[in-house]
Amino acid sequence: MGNATIIDGQAVAARLREAVARAAEDLRAKLGVTPGLATIIIGDDPASHVYVRNKGRACTAAGLTSFEHRLPAETGESELLALINRLNTDDAVDGILVQLPLPAAIDAQRVLTAIDPQKDVDGFHPLNVGRLWSGQPSLVPCTPQGCMILLKTVHADLGGAEAVVLGRSLIVGRPLAALLVAADCTVTVTHSKSRDVAAISRRADVVIAALGRPEIVAADWIKPGATVIDVGTNRVVGPDGTARLVGDVNFAAARAVAGAITPVPGGVGPMTIACLLQNTVIAACRTRGLPEPEFG
Ligand code: NAP
Repeated sequence: MGNATIIDGQAVAARLREAVARAAEDLRAKLGVTPGLATIIIGDDPASHVYVRNKGRACTAAGLTSFEHRLPAETGESELLALINRLNTDDAVDGILVQLPLPAAIDAQRVLTAIDPQKDVDGFHPLNVGRLWSGQPSLVPCTPQGCMILLKTVHADLGGAEAVVLGRSLIVGRPLAALLVAADCTVTVTHSKSRDVAAISRRADVVIAALGRPEIVAADWIKPGATVIDVGTNRVVGPDGTARLVGDVNFAAARAVAGAITPVPGGVGPMTIACLLQNTVIAACRTRGLPEPEFG
């Protein structure tokens, strides 16, 4: 067993959810405002339904209003766009989240672009993407934001750190690269066409694994003492037929080399919903021209 510090995402997320609940209570008590999150899910993918249900429960627990729109798999793009337009102009709705993936017949980019950027709590609208990269206030994608909060629990200052982001997806890798650049890291982003990813990863003081490949990141991908944030959430079935959740990092091997590491589950996962709640409260404040609360 190694000596790496285990970064407890569950505990950090619980503290953030409490801070969000306090901010929501403050808004309600002082201004009569209850931030609201609308989620839209199309079809019957069981994993997506679990995510949406958990988001709804977390909203209610933090004192936010949750509006869940469950639409049948055959819902057309124009119907979805009409719903988004209604939610864009609904004052009770501060945040809108469209659960991905969408059915193949629907143009996801068109849908995400239809969301009012002020209510885009997932931070996927091109305006928020551009604002993030240009260092302007934006709504920041939840999982990358959660990774940064976890990183800051072990690095008070990331300035000058060499960071390698394994994966270039629009929802994780790219926004993380923007956030790490903004935190003064020297950033490399790898993908499936990169040569010798292990050697690139081994240079890093901070490794973020977001490949969607179960336990691909081995001990020799990690510089001794590096901080490893594992975004991967992969369901694997063992020889005895039981399913378990593993990250993109071989946790047992990596913790012997790393200085600090997130587990799966209990690392990045819980941060995503906490950051979604935070974004909803931020959106509620910004639309009303109110100062943004401190979340600790
Ligand atoms: P994605 O869209 O599939 O992107 C994966 C990225 O990894 C791509 O850029 C891909 O390269 C790269 N890649 C894949 N295999 C590789 C290899 N063998 N060598 C080098 N690069 C490789 O995945 P994602 O949406 O970013 O998600 C990544 C993981 O995070 C998944 O396990 C997902 O379930 C998890 N996740 C967790 C949360 C959470 O905890 N809340 C949220 C989001 C995602 P190309 O671009 O060249 O294809």
